[in-house]
Amino acid sequence: MDIKFLTDIGFLIGSVGFVWGLKLLSSPDSARRGNTIASIGMGAAIISIIFAPLNQGDNNYPWVIAGLAIGAIIGYLMAMRVKMTAMPQMVSIFNGLGGACAVLIGMVELRHFYTGASAMSGGQIAISLSALFIGGIAFTGSILAWFKLEDWLRDNALILPKHSIFNMALLVVILAMGIYIYVQNIDAGIGLAAIFMVLALVYGVSFVVPIGGADMPVVISLLNSFSGLSAASAGLIYGNNFMLVGGILVGASGTILTVLMCNAMNRSLLNVLIGGFGGGAAGASKGAVGGQVAKEVTLNDAAIQLYYSGSVMIVPGYGLAVAQAQKVCKEIDDLLESNGVDVKYAIHPVAGRMPGHMNVLLAEADVPYPKLLDLEDANAALKNTDMVVIVGANDVVNPAALDDPGSPIYGMPVLQVWDAKNVIVLKRSMNPGYAGIQNPLFFHEKTRMLFGDAKDTLSKLVTEIKNL
Ligand code: NDP
Repeated sequence: MDIKFLTDIGFLIGSVGFVWGLKLLSSPDSARRGNTIASIGMGAAIISIIFAPLNQGDNNYPWVIAGLAIGAIIGYLMAMRVKMTAMPQMVSIFNGLGGACAVLIGMVELRHFYTGASAMSGGQIAISLSALFIGGIAFTGSILAWFKLEDWLRDNALILPKHSIFNMALLVVILAMGIYIYVQNIDAGIGLAAIFMVLALVYGVSFVVPIGGADMPVVISLLNSFSGLSAASAGLIYGNNFMLVGGILVGASGTILTVLMCNAMNRSLLNVLIGGFGGGAAGASKGAVGGQVAKEVTLNDAAIQLYYSGSVMIVPGYGLAVAQAQKVCKEIDDLLESNGVDVKYAIHPVAGRMPGHMNVLLAEADVPYPKLLDLEDANAALKNTDMVVIVGANDVVNPAALDDPGSPIYGMPVLQVWDAKNVIVLKRSMNPGYAGIQNPLFFHEKTRMLFGDAKDTLSKLVTEIKNL
């Protein structure tokens, strides 16, 4: 049978696997199955493309198999070892590697062209340049994002005076250079293409430098869409339909997620990209609440209030993930439900450190999905809630987002927990959250603090409730 036909069948299985997998990923119940189906699709496409060169009599099997083996081992070990809280970093590294691949493919093909080893149409030159440009930004931008997420680099390190003007000027130079290379065709030469690539790599760093604090999820999602677009460009260079479909799916889903996150923060993408979020204005917010003392609650009082209330809303945040407190949280939920308390969970779209972070953790603890309320439903329900228990959340419940125009998070929709009758906050100290700003909620008249590690405190609460 024709190898090309078999390759196309493999690509078709791969593409269907991706689309089907993506569809199943939209609900926590089916997400695991979606991941498996998408992986099988990817496997089918990889096997097909390995056999594709058979009928051309020219292949690099030792290189291909060595690359596959090394990549598979590193990928497997990283995936097995990564902590849930470090997922954004992992996604960043993957985005960066996807971008680096597109840069290498674009450069290799342009080199073949300029050395006369192969011909290229104007369209192919333009696609190769876009692979260099978009892939270059995805590569260095993601590596910088990884450094920032690991706290190896301060958010405001490397920012130049008038940084956004520098970025704009650099972008204009790169685009002008791209047009020049395209127009010059074969006369441009590999040297100019290499300078173009270096400028794109520099732009990737410069693009991410001003972004920080709570805006990092948006930039990671945007870089994810760039890595998809660069893979699609590489697919066009090789006429590989599977890379094209996969790249477009990643590019489109990354773009949709970026827009949804900007909406969740009530900010424009441009505003996010210009940056400065969570940096300098923090002091102003701290000053606004300076001198106030947060009130505490004892474990016994907290247990009594929770056990004898009509409704409880649990607000999980990053601290729940750090403490791995999801299972003991479910234990409290079961105890309260057994006494007729209506327990729900309020899920903010950027709670934790990755989209869907809280959903994944709570699903792991077998919390039924209908108990999870999204931002809008939770805010409506909070008005009729007796008790709110905040488990390691901070930025997503900060009232400054609504009433302090000087706050760097002003305008971001938050969970309006102060609408409930009482609020208990579980955290270890008065330290700020990811955005680095103080939270006036902790000094609110309805709020009581319960200090300690979330898992430890919740376990003690379980004992107290059982003793009631
Ligand atoms: P925050 O980062 O605002 O706050 C988390 C709080 O958890 C901290 O104040 C910390 O206080 C507390 N905490 C940490 N460890 C523990 C522990 N072991 N036990 C109890 N408490 C603990 O988290 P939120 O979920 O409220 O907000 C998420 C933030 O992260 C947002 O700013 C968001 O933009 C950003 N972000 C979101 C991403 C996403 O995609 N979801 C990705 C990257 C960033 P203390 O130290 O006093 O205990």
